[in-house]
Amino acid sequence: MINIILFGPPGSGKGTQAQKMVEKYGLLHISTGDLFRYEMGNNTPLGIKAKQYISKGELVPDEVTIGMLKNKVDANPMVNGYIFDGFPRTETQAIALDEFLKLKGTSITSLLALEVDDEEIVKRILNRGETSGRTDDRDESIIRNRIEVYSQETAPIFDYYALKDKSIKIAGIGGIDEIFERISTILDTFVSA
Ligand code: ADP
Repeated sequence: MINIILFGPPGSGKGTQAQKMVEKYGLLHISTGDLFRYEMGNNTPLGIKAKQYISKGELVPDEVTIGMLKNKVDANPMVNGYIFDGFPRTETQAIALDEFLKLKGTSITSLLALEVDDEEIVKRILNRGETSGRTDDRDESIIRNRIEVYSQETAPIFDYYALKDKSIKIAGIGGIDEIFERISTILDTFVSA
């Protein structure tokens, strides 16, 4: 199995690149943001809870997020591997993910970090907000809060996997296909390994 953490700040293009990785490598894309939006759209108890945090640009509590992620993986066992997008976002989530995969006899292959600077991110998200229907994409102060939460709580996950020699940086600026080429070059080495 090839299990990839697609890492990077909000608006760094994870969803776009994940889509292309699904097509080329047959991995299952799991986006915790998408899962929360589905739950919110259906007004489920989980969705109602998540909304309290997401609308402010804060993280949803770990136990809620971890439980939801495990359910999604358990519901889709027969795949080549997973792309984790938007997860883990805290060290607690990273530890939970590693333990969970270990129980399944597998592990994280690599963390691929898309690098994009803050001003470009704000521009991209505001632009996305015009069509995405996401209220957290329309307000610059909420976007800046998400970037702040990312730097404080999520960025250290890069180092967590770097200690295991699994973290790789990828320039996230350029055309979509150009960036995908960079990702593919790395994934191809895992496929042929
Ligand atoms: P972004 O485009 O900001 O990366 P996502 O679509 O991945 O956003 O997630 C939207 C929101 O859902 C986040 O701002 C956060 O509130 C919540 N969320 C998503 N994933 C997680 C997670 N792993 N832990 C806690 N909260 C999360």
